Amino acid sequence: MHATTTDLMIDARGIYKAFGQVDVLKGVDIQVARSEVVAIIGSSGSGKSTLLRCLNYLEKVDAGSIAIENDFLVQNNSHNRAHYAPEQTIRHICARMGMVFQQFNLFPHMTVLQNVIEAPITVKKMQRNEIVPLAQELLRKVGLENKQDCYPSQLSGGQKQRVAIARALAMQPQIMLFDEPTSALDPELTGDVLKTMQQLAEDKMTMVVVTHEMGFAREVANKVLFMDKGVIVESGEARSFFANPQHARTQAFLSSML
Ligand code: ADP
Ligand code: MG
Repeated sequence: MHATTTDLMIDARGIYKAFGQVDVLKGVDIQVARSEVVAIIGSSGSGKSTLLRCLNYLEKVDAGSIAIENDFLVQNNSHNRAHYAPEQTIRHICARMGMVFQQFNLFPHMTVLQNVIEAPITVKKMQRNEIVPLAQELLRKVGLENKQDCYPSQLSGGQKQRVAIARALAMQPQIMLFDEPTSALDPELTGDVLKTMQQLAEDKMTMVVVTHEMGFAREVANKVLFMDKGVIVESGEARSFFANPQHARTQAFLSSML
């Protein structure tokens, strides 16, 4: 299936979010088509994590609309204030999104396999005999088929992050959100995680990736958004974005990343 502009998985418009007196998101729009990979780049503090967290209801927006596959998570009311869908609708919508964090957040007292099957069993009420084969298949995909009985403390950071990816995928999401998945890793461990994400992209997963890996953004993403101080300063098709950044702030950021 070809992604078209009418085939939007994420359609967020006019997102505003403040923490106390600090305006963190100041009218952000993001559209992601099916099977598209969108990279979000920008300096620390520009609002990238907050934007991702608003998309899957880890934070609430103050104003704006977010539709996931045409279902509204939140919309503005007539006073331009955010009005959220009922709890049950929110749960259904958010179940379509998996998220991977910089800090892997694995359960330390559970084996790798237990980490991956936990949410499908407790949240989706799946049977062990249906989820275990799927979990093993996902662990094979992320290159950890021989680690299922290990505990997180026995794994490298890169292996832990690949378990976290498998764990998110075990919920069978339509969309994967990544918040700097390689930023906590030693440089020599980032490659396997990025390769796993690239494979996911090749398998046509819809992905939003906050990253400082400019190579990944250029090679794997279809679209790049550059955020600065709570707004998207510039966005474009990945290759032309890097080849020919238009905005002075984008140019300054990209040179600081070299
Ligand atoms: P980025 O991910 O681009 O580094 P963040 O979205 O984490 O940026 O943060 C943007 C701004 O919002 C920062 O100034 C940060 O201090 C502030 N911020 C983020 N989360 C909170 C919070 N829970 N409470 C108060 N301020 C926050
Ligand atoms: Mg962040």
